[in-house]
Amino acid sequence: MKKCSDFFDFLISHAKVYGFIFPSSEIYGGLNAIYDYGPHGVELKNNIKELWWKSMTQLHENIVGVDSSILMHSDVWHASGHVDKFNELLIDHKDSKKRYRPEILIQEYVKKNFLDDPKKKEKILSRLSKSLDKQDLIDIKVLIDELCICDPVFKTKNWTEIRHFNMMFKIRNEKDLFLRPETAQGVFLNFHNIVKSSRMKIPFGIAQIGKSFRNEIVARRFLFRMREFEQMEMQFFVLPEEEIKWYEYWKKNRLKWHLELNLGYDDKTYYYQLCDHDHLSHYESAGSDIEFHFPFGFKEIEGIHSRRDFDLKNHELFSKKKIRIVEWKKNYIPYVIETSLGLDRLFLAIFSSSLKKEKLKNGKERIVLKLPYFLSPIKAAIFPLVRKDGLQEIAKKIFHDIKIRHRLVYDEKESIGKLYRRQDAIGTPFCFTVDYDTIKTDTVTMRNRDSMEQKRIHIKEISKIIKKETGFEKILKKLSIII
Ligand code: ATP
Repeated sequence: MKKCSDFFDFLISHAKVYGFIFPSSEIYGGLNAIYDYGPHGVELKNNIKELWWKSMTQLHENIVGVDSSILMHSDVWHASGHVDKFNELLIDHKDSKKRYRPEILIQEYVKKNFLDDPKKKEKILSRLSKSLDKQDLIDIKVLIDELCICDPVFKTKNWTEIRHFNMMFKIRNEKDLFLRPETAQGVFLNFHNIVKSSRMKIPFGIAQIGKSFRNEIVARRFLFRMREFEQMEMQFFVLPEEEIKWYEYWKKNRLKWHLELNLGYDDKTYYYQLCDHDHLSHYESAGSDIEFHFPFGFKEIEGIHSRRDFDLKNHELFSKKKIRIVEWKKNYIPYVIETSLGLDRLFLAIFSSSLKKEKLKNGKERIVLKLPYFLSPIKAAIFPLVRKDGLQEIAKKIFHDIKIRHRLVYDEKESIGKLYRRQDAIGTPFCFTVDYDTIKTDTVTMRNRDSMEQKRIHIKEISKIIKKETGFEKILKKLSIII
């Protein structure tokens, strides 16, 4: 597990073998950058969603939720600027027929080839940055030619010119109907309905979890860059003069949220960094990314943007309907601070930092998914030590008595050692085993995933322990501390 690519291959295989993530349409050869969540994956993903949703809506009395449609009126994407400006740069390689983002080609080339020459590296990257700002596509192409960058597979330089590529998925035969590339627009369209129906006053927020679709040019790195993915976004509406105050507040608040998840700090690598945007998106006036240390390096996991009145103003213009706040003799379009977190990227961050291979005292190795208990797909497993002498019946009764309160599994298919290993691999915090002493004393063996310690507890304690140790209460308490 030393090399990053070995670890990443192991992670992808573990996610498949243990029912977390499957390649979509696998029996037809798969579909590039599209994945399905398996039985354990969907439980973990739902727990992540629930935590985010509760920490947004339950912990903030001025944030409410919405679930808007994926398909929206075609004018929405003209008003939001996505039809004209939601573009990436694209270059095709004529021999390999592969598509690349030219700036990534240059950045990766420079990173690889100018390790010992930081000055030259800096010079090229600064020229690239200027050309990107000016959208000088000719100079970016000249840079590729000057550096003699080849296609990684064909090793030739047979490139096309660079052009803009719109990343929205258009629905065929439906004029101007797109799959949404961000969830935010559904919030802006419902702004008035929400203000009226919920009697919200500035400052207030609207949270939403939903699918987004982007026709990514280079879609790779498993769940990191997908073409169909989920976002957990919150748009916070503020007085224009309070833009900076709330922008700074949400940057701090969101970083704290990530840090409280307490993901894999055992190797002392600091897992997060906050970076201001060098290049702003068409809708934002300020932006920063919370970056997470993925197995392939620091990369964006969440964006915090000030969208000012860009969206509401344009929707006023295009729809010819007033979208305003009228209060205290004021009539204005509020500014928007947005927090935008990729659910699948967060899933990958949690999964990759939790997955460990551990050497045991007996020289053997175990694979364990050290998920935060409150996110584990299965909270506890109930086993009979052996499949005879009435132990199965007692174990099944315990399972049925408490399954209405917790997500549990009952298993008797293998030896107890193998049952423990399987639960370690899917991240189950506790296993409870019914043995011969249970018949006499009404106690079971409780095994902890992380320490592997075992102790005897009374059957009556099982549900209380699961609730206390694996519920959301502890983490929500930490998240509710106002900063
Ligand atoms: P990137 O620079 O990595 O393409 P972005 O700046 O375009 O990301 P935003 O538009 O700010 O991303 O979207 C907010 C969040 O949505 C991102 O921080 C990320 O977690 C998630 N996200 C964006 N694109 C994808 C994708 N293709 N696959 C998975 N998650 C994504």
